Amino acid sequence: SALIEAENLYRFYHAGDDETLALRGVSLTLQPGDLVAVTGPSGSGKSTLLACLAGLDEPDGGTVTLNGERLSRRPEADRADIRSRKLGMLYQHTNLVGHLSVDANVVLAQQIGQRRTNAAWRHELLGRCGIAARAGARPSQLSGGELARAGLAVALANDPLVLLADEPTGELDDSTAARILALLRERADTGQAILLVTHNPDVASTADREIRLRDGRIEPRPEVTA
Ligand code: ADP
Ligand code: ADP
Repeated sequence: SALIEAENLYRFYHAGDDETLALRGVSLTLQPGDLVAVTGPSGSGKSTLLACLAGLDEPDGGTVTLNGERLSRRPEADRADIRSRKLGMLYQHTNLVGHLSVDANVVLAQQIGQRRTNAAWRHELLGRCGIAARAGARPSQLSGGELARAGLAVALANDPLVLLADEPTGELDDSTAARILALLRERADTGQAILLVTHNPDVASTADREIRLRDGRIEPRPEVTA
């Protein structure tokens, strides 16, 4: 069954007399194994879509379901619970806690997700993400590429079924970006679903499919001419 199901999402923003339609009827489905890129110009609704899929924002219309569990129109505590069990989030400027080491950040994420932690498992995770050698370092001691890899380890700390990534390769050099993409592909191949937002056409072309947003709508795919 689907890991992410978004049905007819609408999101309005009001500012004074202005109303912005950030999402107007967005529907999408990700099955286990899907690696999907979301692209579109600035202001097309990408961030709003990710926030709605994560349950960080409530759509004004429509429904988000994660692995059969409805996320929309539930109290924030329920959404936070579902999020911590099923979802990993990877942002360019990651949610690493500054005074904790990389390893302690993974421990913290697991505590929030109510998972038992285990030093050997963490070491293996940090190794896969290419950051094991820096496990004891704090975020301020890390380079940009190291921060991105540490952020990925934290996003994967609860072994989530669904990973939402906002510009996961945004500020990275090519080899670090390729490494992160390979890891995301590996996750998809073992049955998780990954949705990533990107401006980079090369990154988008490594996905199984591309969803293009424009003015809060999904652009129809170009017709294939015979
Ligand atoms: P937001 O959705 O938060 O308004 P954008 O989607 O405009 O932000 O941009 C997200 C990130 O991508 C930013 O770091 C921005 O600098 C970068 N970015 C924006 N447009 C482009 C582009 N055309 N090519 C490469 N990077 C871009
Ligand atoms: P993208 O990520 O593709 O750049 P966003 O989802 O950030 O697009 O924004 C979609 C539209 O919603 C834009 O027109 C933006 O200005 C508007 N918007 C986003 N967040 C807010 C907000 N908090 N208040 C008002 N308007 C917003």
